[in-house]
Amino acid sequence: MEVCYTTTDLITDLQQVRSKHSSIGLVPTMGALHEGHFALIRESKRDNEFTVCSIYVNPTQFNDRDDFNKYPKSLEKDLKILDSLSCDIVFCPSDEEMYPVKPRVGFTLGTVGDIMEGKYRPGHFNGVLLAVSKLLNKVQPDIAYFGQKDLQQYMLIRYLAEDLSFPVKIKRVETVREESGLAFSSRNRRLSGKALREASNLYKGLLKGKEKLSNEVPFTEVKPLIENYLCNFASIKLEYLELVETDNFQVVNDVESDREYALCIAAYVDDIRLIDNVIFEVDR
Ligand code: AMP
Repeated sequence: MEVCYTTTDLITDLQQVRSKHSSIGLVPTMGALHEGHFALIRESKRDNEFTVCSIYVNPTQFNDRDDFNKYPKSLEKDLKILDSLSCDIVFCPSDEEMYPVKPRVGFTLGTVGDIMEGKYRPGHFNGVLLAVSKLLNKVQPDIAYFGQKDLQQYMLIRYLAEDLSFPVKIKRVETVREESGLAFSSRNRRLSGKALREASNLYKGLLKGKEKLSNEVPFTEVKPLIENYLCNFASIKLEYLELVETDNFQVVNDVESDREYALCIAAYVDDIRLIDNVIFEVDR
């Protein structure tokens, strides 16, 4: 496994790879790797002859300084794991490599950028799309992999690639969960015993909601049920709960048959902000 710290090294290495006509998969991450990330790497290994993983804690996507400063880092351990997963190249750029100049352009996002994460984390998606654009341009992968856990992010990256004609396929990979049901997240490392135990109720709440919605209970009734359920746990403070159609990411209140929906949640567990979602279809 090669570790590249500069774009020049990365491009030199990839030139050789491309001359052998290999297909290249890219897995962008912010490090502190866990089973969710491993699933993306494995998917890329299955689909491609060559896999690049990037590790970069992107400052422009953090709207909260404290969250950025406290973001977990474990580069040495991450590199060992990536080696054991037979990742081919790890790209670990510095801030100077990623942002040699402060960006002078940005993204105007449509309605999908205004809801949920876009509403509660102003500027977040602009930062995500800047960093992802840079990574896609540097690596020029055939397929790039993103987790369902960050569903709105996946959707906006798909729109980015389609609208700006990036020659890449954007692939969604299912959320990987701990035994308790809690979605793996680098931020889980910051949860203490009780908060960690209570955090799995976000997923349990989502499952209760999914069951009701599948049985034709309108979201206007389901939402307070989940809110009440989550009130039982002292460390959980709900930020939003939304139902969206996954095809176009429009917020809806009712479900129709043969369409895919996602019930999405963001909540603070103690002072750690977590997001999750469940995707489902209604067959009648
Ligand atoms: P991050 O390092 O948090 O920026 O995540 C890097 C990628 O891993 C993103 O595409 C995430 O959506 C994905 N990811 C994070 N957690 C999970 C999970 N539990 N299951 C699947 N993918 C995940």
